[in-house]
Amino acid sequence: MVKPVIAIVGRPNVGKSTIFNRIVGERISIVEDIPGVTRDRIYSSGEWLTHDFNIIDTGGIDIGEEPFLEQIRQQAEVAMDEADVIIFLTNGKEGVTAADEEVAKILYRTKKPVVLGVNKIDNPEMRDQIYDFYALGFGEPIPISGSHGLGIGDLLDEAAKHFPKLDQTEYDEDVIKFSLIGRPNVGKSSLVNAILGEERVIVSNIAGTTRDAIDSPYTYDEQRYVIIDTAGIRKKGKVYENTEKYSVLRALRAIERSDVVLVVINAEEGIIEQDKKIAGYAHEAGRAVVIVVNKWDAVEKDEKTMKEFEQKIRDHFLFLDYAPIVFLSAKTKKRVHTLLPMINLASENHSMRVETSVLNDIIMDAVAMNPTPTDKGKRLKIYYATQVSVKPPTFVIFVNEPELLHFSYERFLENRIRDAFGFEGTPIKIFARERK
Ligand code: GDP
Ligand code: GDP
Repeated sequence: MVKPVIAIVGRPNVGKSTIFNRIVGERISIVEDIPGVTRDRIYSSGEWLTHDFNIIDTGGIDIGEEPFLEQIRQQAEVAMDEADVIIFLTNGKEGVTAADEEVAKILYRTKKPVVLGVNKIDNPEMRDQIYDFYALGFGEPIPISGSHGLGIGDLLDEAAKHFPKLDQTEYDEDVIKFSLIGRPNVGKSSLVNAILGEERVIVSNIAGTTRDAIDSPYTYDEQRYVIIDTAGIRKKGKVYENTEKYSVLRALRAIERSDVVLVVINAEEGIIEQDKKIAGYAHEAGRAVVIVVNKWDAVEKDEKTMKEFEQKIRDHFLFLDYAPIVFLSAKTKKRVHTLLPMINLASENHSMRVETSVLNDIIMDAVAMNPTPTDKGKRLKIYYATQVSVKPPTFVIFVNEPELLHFSYERFLENRIRDAFGFEGTPIKIFARERK
């Protein structure tokens, strides 16, 4: 399901990350009394009444060495590119500043709805301070207080009024949606072109969505696919597109809409920390994953090189032990044709359902082989298991006490399930529930 996106913009220190955290509901970024503080998380989901949405704190996108004003301009550009509704945040204690006017000037260019919030209105006596903000030209300013949690509902009500009517089912169930994620320059756009340029690939011309993302639908061997969010891959040249936070933001948004995520690695450079981070998001989101090692043509190799590289990947991506690895070259097209079968396999396993009776046989055999653990004199008892959903396959195991199912035993059960059913390319989830 596609959720509408809200972006918060505004000059530093008006309270963007405070509001972001309030809306997201946990204290996940560091708020301190210094401008331009580092933020960890800039993109998250939120809920307000019946609305589900995603929210971006553009203040967390650090645009390198650019001067102050250029930074906020770029952040406003990000909001205009990425959001359905923009919250323009200001500081009621300081009144309208020149930097606010700069932000406003950028936002005049957008056709997207802008909601004006005046923060730091900590008590009713301060409400008079909002009137100056009419001058910014975005209609009625909404008084809020991030630190006191006041007015945030009003702000979200106003934002929600402008949510676009989104198509709930963007594509048919049987269409495989996949995305390519990875650092800049690993070869994502080259690979998209290589895939679409394959013989027998029938590229369809219709833009997939009504949204600004440009998807690429195509058909191969009667299977329909959509490459998600290639706009983010193709459109190049803006300064902020090379920043780490922005590329993570794009990756997260693409992951959200995908069934299968291709984690693309540059064979020439090997694996760095950021690769792991991005791959970790795909895993956490429960998407099927295929690891793609691109630029394999540029590596000097003998018969051991591939095995060694594979081992390196396994060591780095311990949590992705289920993901198949494909070595290829977008440039020479060598082995590009091996990718689609892997995507098909991962997608199939991602939506695989297993029979309850077979599942329970597997679990009971597993318990017989490796008795359940005890904790403080109490032994875990497993009654039965059932698969409750797909994408990813999710299992519930009914037990006497859920706390007794420790990570290591859960892992053991997961491995037994994988041995029995495969599930290559997809994470699986296991939850313990108490049976009364
Ligand atoms: P950002 O740079 O726009 O993300 O601003 P921050 O969220 O980091 O907030 C900047 C400072 O303003 C911090 O010291 C916050 O504690 C403070 N602040 C945020 N919201 C409010 C508010 O509603 N009232 C008051 N008095 N201070 C606030
Ligand atoms: P993106 O930023 O991940 O989309 O990467 P690009 O597709 O723009 O590729 C970055 C650079 O790597 C370009 O100069 C490509 O020509 C080059 N490149 C892409 N794929 C390959 C490959 O398989 N082998 C080699 N040697 N170079 C490649």
